[in-house]
Amino acid sequence: MASSAYQGPVFDMALAQFQDVADHLEIPEDRRMRLFMPKRTLMVSCPVRLDNGKTNVFQGYRVQHHLTLGPTKGGTRFAPSVDVGEVAALAIWMSWKCALAGLPYGGAKGGVAVDPMELSPRELEMLSRRYMQEMIPFIGPHTDVMAPDMGTNEQVMAWFMDTYSMYQGKTVAEIVTGKPVETGGTVGRREATGRGVAHLAFRAMEEIGLQPQGATAIVQGFGNVGSVAAHTLAARGVKIVGVSDHTAAYYNPAGLDIVALLDHARQNRILRGFSNELSIDPAELLIQPCDLLVPAAMERVIDAHNVEKLRCRIIAEGANGPTTPAADAVLDRRRDEIFVVPDLLCNAGGVIVSYFEWVQGLQQFFWSEDEVMERLYTALDRSWKQVRARATKDGISNRKAALAIGVQTVRRAKEVRGLFP
Ligand code: GLU
Repeated sequence: MASSAYQGPVFDMALAQFQDVADHLEIPEDRRMRLFMPKRTLMVSCPVRLDNGKTNVFQGYRVQHHLTLGPTKGGTRFAPSVDVGEVAALAIWMSWKCALAGLPYGGAKGGVAVDPMELSPRELEMLSRRYMQEMIPFIGPHTDVMAPDMGTNEQVMAWFMDTYSMYQGKTVAEIVTGKPVETGGTVGRREATGRGVAHLAFRAMEEIGLQPQGATAIVQGFGNVGSVAAHTLAARGVKIVGVSDHTAAYYNPAGLDIVALLDHARQNRILRGFSNELSIDPAELLIQPCDLLVPAAMERVIDAHNVEKLRCRIIAEGANGPTTPAADAVLDRRRDEIFVVPDLLCNAGGVIVSYFEWVQGLQQFFWSEDEVMERLYTALDRSWKQVRARATKDGISNRKAALAIGVQTVRRAKEVRGLFP
């Protein structure tokens, strides 16, 4: 590929995965970049007046990967690591994820390079509103629909929605998903990603003949995804032996008190301060023996350095891109020992219920929590079956199968629509 504005290790990873699956699908070289390269990107500078009276400028991005199947869809991330290459990779993964789930969306992702923990509540609101205001020419409820991601939450979505709506002179709830239920959000969205991860972890357990009751799990990341996944797993008798976030890691082979951990995280927003005796080096935590490992934090945490040392039987990827291609090659070899539920499938519950939220908002017709959850599990099971069938038929990993289905779906739509003009 000729050099482009999109660069960095996460972007390289998305490209390597794509080339690998494009080889498998025998996509001709000249057809590849039309599928892979993001359609368009907006970079903005967001000036914010800080509480100390000074002005700071934060760099923001929004990448829309493809417009072939409908509006683009994806979260907005507030994190120090954010750059255009990372956001582009995440947008590309959203495309394959939505296509695999059968949603009428292309992928998008946005982000601001900021540590939200360092902002006061007022500063966070000002930044959220300014970022959304800068995005107005680029997005719309039928163009690009935002959602939460790392470092953003329901409150940020409410500010996004309010800002967009004030400029339109009317309430446009469908501009974001993952907003509070009071403002047109759907019941079940907050829990959807974590519950979906747990649901598919149970499917994987069935597949390898493991009972949830008494099985052990380590969960990396204790934000919205990791905490809900841990809670849902524990409710079915899974023993959570390890958890971590960016501030602390805890391990107890006898099992951690998950209710106490959830309470602590709710009150303090972080895990630090929960316990001294149970602390463990975060890198060590990942390689402790367990039945189920749930990376639910960030990209590239399972890599060439630790993959050989993993002692789990299942990896259920709550995060986007937690496994590098180098680690994947090893996991491919260890396929009989470790069953991988890849991110595109495993964490799709979030965007699936986002789609339900968008549909409910457009129709102004709202569903019960039971309806949402039933439709979510039906959608996940459908994707699960497709991925398993494809992996078996082609003799490939679950990840490659998930990517193959996603990429092929977008490819077919592009081919049949043709090239304009
Ligand atoms: N940020 C989430 C993801 O990576 C959710 C996106 C959405 O709901 O649109 O899948």
